Amino acid sequence: MIFDPMYFVFMIPGLLLMLWAQGRVRGSYAKYSKIRNAVNLTGAQVARRILDANGLYNVPVEPTRGELSDHYDPGKRALFLSEGVYGTPSIAAMGIAAHEVGHALQHAQAYAPLQMRTAIVPAVNIGSSLGVFVLIAGVVLQFTQLAWFGVALFALSTIFALITLPVEFDASRRAKAALTNLGLTDGGLQRGDETSGVASVLNAAAWTYVAGFAASVLTLLYYVSLVTGMNRND
Ligand SMILES: [Zn+2]
Repeated sequence: MIFDPMYFVFMIPGLLLMLWAQGRVRGSYAKYSKIRNAVNLTGAQVARRILDANGLYNVPVEPTRGELSDHYDPGKRALFLSEGVYGTPSIAAMGIAAHEVGHALQHAQAYAPLQMRTAIVPAVNIGSSLGVFVLIAGVVLQFTQLAWFGVALFALSTIFALITLPVEFDASRRAKAALTNLGLTDGGLQRGDETSGVASVLNAAAWTYVAGFAASVLTLLYYVSLVTGMNRND
């Protein structure tokens, strides 16, 4: 199983897609983190403005270590921005900060896909760590039902990657709308260099989630092919 050439046939396209998407994110971030935004506000200031405009005065904005480590923590009801986003008045920083606020807005408004995603996290954690072992055990023991159970456990992480797509697209949509409505990009105009810069950064990030989902589907298909191959040998 370890030297199965089919493993590479299924895994390499997903891996290449992920690398391509990550390259796009780094490229877009590198470009737009050097361009100052016209309102001269840091990521932290932009986040504060959008949060306050939506009545989320009690959601704090904190700096966190690392690059592109920005996230909203639903447990703490707090926004964490990487140092480069937190303290930099760039186009990239305002886009990423606004996106993370988008998640805080989803949480505050009980946006259904976000709730679903949060609800399945414990099951996904168990499934992704145990699924492959259960599958291998099933294959080694020639116990088809056990192998299918392993596939089902792994499939939880594919479902998670699927639910992540609407959550991420919606957060970026909210971010772009808020930046325009509050006059933070292009003086509130619908189109302009700042609006397209923000879109470039956020669309690149969206592709990483699409790539992640595609890679997960391919892995799942590989596991399915393993188990159906098992049946053929019976
Ligand atoms: Zn996000």
